[in-house]
Order: sequence, then structure tokens, then C-alpha cells
Amino acid sequence: MADTEPGFTDVNKLGEFKLIERLTKDFKLKNKSSKFGIGDDSAVIAHGDTHMLVSTDLLVEGIHFDLIYSPLKHLGYKAVVVNLSDIYAMNGTPEQITVSLALSSKFSVEALDELYEGIKEACRIYNVDLVGGDTTSSPRGLTISVTAIGTVDKDKICYRSGAKPGDILCISGDLGAAYLGLQILEREKQLYLSNPGIQPELENQKYLLERQLKPEARKDIKDYLAEAGLVPTSMIDISDGLASDLMHICKASDVGAFIEEAKIPINQDAQLMAIKFQMDPITTALNGGEDYELLFSIKEEDLEKIRLMPSVYIIGEIVKKKDGITLHTSGGNVHALKAQGWDHFDED
Ligand code: ADP
Ligand code: MG
Repeated sequence: MADTEPGFTDVNKLGEFKLIERLTKDFKLKNKSSKFGIGDDSAVIAHGDTHMLVSTDLLVEGIHFDLIYSPLKHLGYKAVVVNLSDIYAMNGTPEQITVSLALSSKFSVEALDELYEGIKEACRIYNVDLVGGDTTSSPRGLTISVTAIGTVDKDKICYRSGAKPGDILCISGDLGAAYLGLQILEREKQLYLSNPGIQPELENQKYLLERQLKPEARKDIKDYLAEAGLVPTSMIDISDGLASDLMHICKASDVGAFIEEAKIPINQDAQLMAIKFQMDPITTALNGGEDYELLFSIKEEDLEKIRLMPSVYIIGEIVKKKDGITLHTSGGNVHALKAQGWDHFDED
């Protein structure tokens, strides 16, 4: 194997987060305006009385999307929305985007028009301006990089690092649906590849498919929070899955947390589809990812302010680091949460 050669370490051995840590550890922030660099949903740059937020994401054909089932218009929309979600995760307002493309000769002008229809629609719905980008050719497929730029009041910014034991954990909506939408699309793709004459069975699954193909970012939450006069102690958007993203909050805040299985919101269609795929609905909610809901913590004294907030669910609590990151099951068991699944053998 190549990775046994001296001087060649397979990047998969480190994993994404360790790799980023290793590559960036010697980059110290030099400029006074660089308020926060690597390690949150957006970078934070001082700019007068407000802070500017910058976040970037790269979508690669064959890794992040499959053009067999992703309409180009939806893809353009999603590429923008997933970036805006990182600005909302800082309690900010996105204002501009740049879009860069690397494309192979298989894409026609008409196909790219469609992609940009979706980008335009996202710019309209989220009130952001397309202000630049870059376009180049590629030997294979399509790569889209979007950078989102936004602003946030200095005293309203939410990092991943401010959670304290006793804080209440909240989530802005239901989880697992996008992952199940992907499972349906993958199933239909396999059937189509083995029998191209077959019609896909997508009916009645509009919600799951939309959550996967055309997700929305929670632009409303920052307004609800502002109306309630509430600033979360920490916040992150759910891109990798509740378990993994909760771990990012716990690591950055140096705390532990528990979530209550019975309180995790799962849409009814997602519930039924998980069972159809012989999956545990809770596992899809914990590890599915791509939900783009906001996970945040608030001080216990602010509990009343959250109770009437539309679509906000209380799912658990922040605890001391030594108490770990756990799932309290409906049956009364306590499992240690893992980034992928949880440990079934760790019952108290
Ligand atoms: P998110 O899931 O919120 O988009 P990521 O997990 O992609 O965040 O990234 C985690 C952090 O690492 C972010 O602060 C991001 O800007 C930074 N980052 C990711 N890749 C690189 C890179 N190649 N060089 C420098 N910083 C990076
Ligand atoms: Mg994020």
C-alpha cells in the first residue's frame, strides 16, 4: 500500500478535521482586524461597529452531488444556501456571495444558464448580491465554490465556544429528512442504472426530496432571537449531523452535553422512510447531516424567551466536560455519543 511508504501519509488516515488542524497550525493571526480565523462556521473580521463574516464551501461533482438526480437549478440554489447557513450560524446576515466554477466541456451554455437560475433564485429569496467569482475549465465534471460575506452586530455574534454547563440546547427544526431523501435518490439511481426503462418512484416524498435537493437556510431564526432579545451562548449549523456538530460545540466550549432521544424532532415522513430502509430514525437524525438547521445553546434564565419561538425545540442541556457527550434514550439508558452512531455497549 502506498501509505506505508515513508513520506506518504494517506490523508484519509488523518480525517478532515485533523488535516485542517495540521495544515493551519502555524498560521497565527497578525492583523488586528482578524478577530477569528479557522474553527467556526465563518471567519470574523472587524469592520467599524460591526463584524464582517466570511465563509466558503466547495461542491464537487461525484462527491457532493450527482447530476443523475440533482437538477442544475436546484444545485445552484443549494450551493448558495449551504454557505448562507454558515453566516446565519454566527447570528449574522449574509449580504454578498462570489461564485467560482471549474467545468468540463460536457456542460452546455444552456446547462450553466440553469445552474445560474438557481443561484439567482437563492440571491432573491435570501436578499444577497452576487458580486464576483471565477470561471475556468476542468478535465472532469463540475466544481462549484461559493463564498458568502455577511455582517453581525458585535454584541450579537455567536461562536461555537460560548456554551456553559446548565445552558439549554435548542434546535431550529427537524432532522434526518435530507439524508433519507438522499437514500431514496440513491435507490432510484441504482434501479435506473440496472433498468433505464424504469420510472422512478418518487411520489409522496416531496418533503424528503426537497430537504436533500433544495434545502433552505434558517434566515428566520436571527430575527426571532432579536425580537426575543436573546443571544445564544453558542451556535452551529447542522451540516455533518447533530452528533458531529454538537461535538464541535462541546470541543470549542470545553463542555459536555446530553440530548434526550424523545425530544429530537423527526418529521413523520422521515420516520416512516427510515423504517422502510430498516434504519433507526434516531440514527438518521443524529448522523444524517445536511439538515441546515441551527443548533444553539441558551442560558437557563432565558428559557421562557424560547418557549413560544416558532419551530424551536429544546433537545437537551450542556453539562461539565467530565460528564461527556451523551444520549438519554426513551428507555432510560445513557449512551456515549459518537460522531458516527453511538456506543451501544456503554450503558449505565
Ligand atoms: P463548515 O462545516 O461549517 O463549513 P468546515 O468543517 O468546512 O466548516 O471547516 C472548519 C474550519 O476549517 C472553518 O473555519 C474553515 O474555514 C477551515 N478550513 C477548512 N479547510 C481549510 C483549508 N484548506 N485551509 C484553511 N482553513 C480551512
Ligand atoms: Mg457550518
